[in-house]
Amino acid sequence: MEDKRPKVLLTEDNPGDVRLIQEMLAEAGVPFDLECADRLSAGLEHLAEGGIALVLLDLGLPDSMGFDTFIRVHKQAPQVPIVLLTILSDEALGVKAVQEGAQDYLIKGQLDSNLLVRACRYAIERKRAEETLRESEEKYRSLFENMLNGFAYCKILVDENNQPIDFIYLEVDDIFEKLIGLRKEDVIGKKFTEVFPSIKESALDRISIYGKVALTGERTEFDIYFEPIEKWMTISAYSPEKGYFIAVFEDITERKRAEEQIRYQANLVENVSDAIISSDVNFNILSWNKGAETMYGWREDEVIGKSIVDVTKMEYPYDRMEEVMEQFFKTGYWKGEVIQKRKDGTILNALASVSLLKDSSGNPVGDVAINHDITEHKQAEEKERELQVLREVDGLRSQLLANISHELRTPLTSIKGFVSTLLRTDAQWSEEEQRDFLQTIDQESDRLTRIISDLLDMSRIEAKALKLDKDNYQISEILDSVSSSLASLTERHQLQVIVPPDLPPVFVDLMRIGQVLTNLVENAAKYSPEGSEITIETQLAGDQVIVSVTDRGQGIAPELLPRVFDRFYQAESIATGRKSGTGLGLSICQGILETHDGRIWVESKLGEGSKFSFSLSVGKGE
Ligand code: ADP
Repeated sequence: MEDKRPKVLLTEDNPGDVRLIQEMLAEAGVPFDLECADRLSAGLEHLAEGGIALVLLDLGLPDSMGFDTFIRVHKQAPQVPIVLLTILSDEALGVKAVQEGAQDYLIKGQLDSNLLVRACRYAIERKRAEETLRESEEKYRSLFENMLNGFAYCKILVDENNQPIDFIYLEVDDIFEKLIGLRKEDVIGKKFTEVFPSIKESALDRISIYGKVALTGERTEFDIYFEPIEKWMTISAYSPEKGYFIAVFEDITERKRAEEQIRYQANLVENVSDAIISSDVNFNILSWNKGAETMYGWREDEVIGKSIVDVTKMEYPYDRMEEVMEQFFKTGYWKGEVIQKRKDGTILNALASVSLLKDSSGNPVGDVAINHDITEHKQAEEKERELQVLREVDGLRSQLLANISHELRTPLTSIKGFVSTLLRTDAQWSEEEQRDFLQTIDQESDRLTRIISDLLDMSRIEAKALKLDKDNYQISEILDSVSSSLASLTERHQLQVIVPPDLPPVFVDLMRIGQVLTNLVENAAKYSPEGSEITIETQLAGDQVIVSVTDRGQGIAPELLPRVFDRFYQAESIATGRKSGTGLGLSICQGILETHDGRIWVESKLGEGSKFSFSLSVGKGE
């Protein structure tokens, strides 16, 4: 298998000796490649190039003499075997060199081919074996030195009944010394109870455990807090021979502390009243603390692995989840109010803080949410809002009563005044005057009737008791039904009606929608100058018919627009100062349309006019 012959470096300045050796090797069938150097410096260069299996070294060279030659070569390449070539009178030097690490020495003049080759081979082999041994020794030493486990070899002591009562330390290692903090000489040959007199209590337990190991040969392993040295250890014990045991100690104090820390933190998480929930990237629950159990009513084992969205029946912000998710993945955090449900179906309001969890390379691995229950707070807020509404309603009611009394009193006062005037005996009224008074009384009575009928409508609408008699009608039929009222209302205006020919019928109460239309036209006439145009326009928009009444009157100030549909709302009449209505008309219109599932709205520009529109659903069926 050796097609490559070992390289031998011959360091010899005597050409005769060189030739002799070359010949001897040739005689043996040239088992080595021979390289020659006639000076130490040349020899060292060869060595530095590497690949030399053996140095045949003459100690007397031109640039180095005696033992020093060996020292320098050996120092340069301690792993390369050296065989010295000495003369008989220098044999002592050869012996000394062997003591210092040379493999062998050969005496010039006593050499033959066999001896030379054998000495060379032997030196190479022996050096190789030594190297291997050294390497493995080194390996084991470093292994041993780096081993953190202490070691004690002990003999168990038994009483007359063969019951273990103590043990003696026979051997311990350096780590044991370090771990336990006692010197070998204070331990070896001593009994356990002597070495640790303070641990009487647990000593018996320990002795019986080791006793069992030593007497039965069963291995064991246990964790123990070793009080005298305040350390946690894992001890594994086995028996190499009956009656003896070896205990291997591992210091696990750090690990125990870390575990303690984790347990402490876990305990903390368990005991806060907030829900702390962790989930994986798919929002499946990984952990669910006690706080979450109390808050949601689900036990941890009921929810692990399930989707957090399903378990908490997230209602909000479920509808805008995409937006929330986008922010969450962008910033790694989301905080906000959520509306969820407990196990029993009741609503839970919570303030959630959710953090994205990432692994060391930055990839999301899940999230942890801390949810704080704010249901009670929300309910209190809700109650406060309801109270506020009630207060407002109460205020409105008083205002309504005041308004009604006022509205009723005005015409009544007027009627009463004229009637009293007519009844006066001390005054004479012409026929014309009497007619005038009676006309006013008539008008005021009408006004009273109108107010009372408006109030009745209003209260029916409020009580949701407005009965509708709905049917399919063409818009033109509705217009026809109120045409005479419209004509008289717009006597002094130009009424224009635009109805496209193919409008579908609407499904309405004819009388009530007629009332709305009349009311709007009446307002249009009331709040626009004589002679101006009033337009009724209808058009189809999807499944709705839109009817609008436009005037070219005073218009409504933008800030008042939202209030015109309020009950009793009447703008201070700008131009005329007259206040002929009740302020109920538009709110009744709105009520009527709401009961028709329709809508009423207004667009207006001050000084240009107003456009009131309402929508009606297209009729169903025929
Ligand atoms: P009123 O009986 O006073 O007309 P409404 O409820 O019908 O009561 O109207 C409420 C208020 O809305 C009116 O007092 C008036 O100020 C304003 N308003 C209604 N219609 C018009 C309109 N076409 N142009 C200008 N103002 C209007």
